[in-house]
Amino acid sequence: MLADLTKKEMEDYAVANGMPAFRGRQIFDAIYSAQSIDEVSVLSKNLKEKLRQDYPEYKILRKFISKDGTIKYVFSFPDGNIVEGVFMKYKYGNTLCLSTQVGCRMGCKFCASTLKGLIRNLSAGEMLGQVLLVNRDNGGTVKDRKVTNLVLMGSGEPLDNYAEVTKFLRLVSSADGINISQRNISLSTCGLVPKIYSLADDGFSVTLTISLHASNDEMRRVSMPVANSYKIEEIVKACKYYFEKTGRRIVFEYTLLKGVNDNLENAKELGKILKGFPCHVNIIPLNEVKERNLKATTRAECYAFSKALEKEGISSTVRRTLGEDIGGACGQLRNQILKGEV
Ligand code: SAH
Repeated sequence: MLADLTKKEMEDYAVANGMPAFRGRQIFDAIYSAQSIDEVSVLSKNLKEKLRQDYPEYKILRKFISKDGTIKYVFSFPDGNIVEGVFMKYKYGNTLCLSTQVGCRMGCKFCASTLKGLIRNLSAGEMLGQVLLVNRDNGGTVKDRKVTNLVLMGSGEPLDNYAEVTKFLRLVSSADGINISQRNISLSTCGLVPKIYSLADDGFSVTLTISLHASNDEMRRVSMPVANSYKIEEIVKACKYYFEKTGRRIVFEYTLLKGVNDNLENAKELGKILKGFPCHVNIIPLNEVKERNLKATTRAECYAFSKALEKEGISSTVRRTLGEDIGGACGQLRNQILKGEV
């Protein structure tokens, strides 16, 4: 698929298919402005037919606009698969939360994305497509971007799709393309330790976000099967390595689950683990998933937990919730659409 290619690769593709190199650049520009093949006016009808098979066919299938301005998108691919993205407007810029896989195989008990397991990986171009479609839908161009920040926090485990995700990071941060700096990109992972080392060694500098959600391994194993493979201690060690290599402060995510991990003693325990390490803890109020029986803690309890962490010397905030009226947490909207509920 042509959206997987760099500008140079697109020129080579053009030449290999009997076209001059500049045609490759024209196709590249058309893809980056999220034009469908029929909209590309610089290409002849014959050429369009020749290219049609390789030209991206992802599109915005549905769009839900929240009262607070947040937009939830459902993207579709030619094989019939769909994924979600969320576009959030902040003072400092606009963030797109995008998906890296259709479904997920990590099996976290609180998450809707993993309910039916992993369907397939997304390709680099399919991740890029989500960015380009949302940029265009909000009046952006390649030069005047409306998507300025990215978080890889939609459905999927990014480090379980390492090759395509890293290819995507290169494409999306390339000066040839939409040029979103890695400093403005967060990659969220449930903690696949060897891949955290790879990310550091392969020279990436995105903000690393770790979904911790527990203050000890025993507790973590209850809600996150991945905890059977990697200990918190190993994750934190890998994070320290990432920090040393990149100088980027690590963010830890902690979703509060009522009666599971929300005791103030857990905040103390977490404080001890993270003490002295340049990091930030994001407290996330659970977005209840109706297929799961986990319950959310109150907003007040979230603040109390955050305060207890601060007392241990750990920087912490409670994440504000956006777009609550339009489909809830990761993967919920896709499930509702598959069931024909919306
Ligand atoms: N697989 C990656 C990224 C996807 S999820 C990861 O595990 O980090 C992005 C964040 O939302 C993760 O921290 C995830 O644990 C959290 N999350 C998933 N379902 C949630 C829910 N129902 N309520 C609150 N947070 C949730």
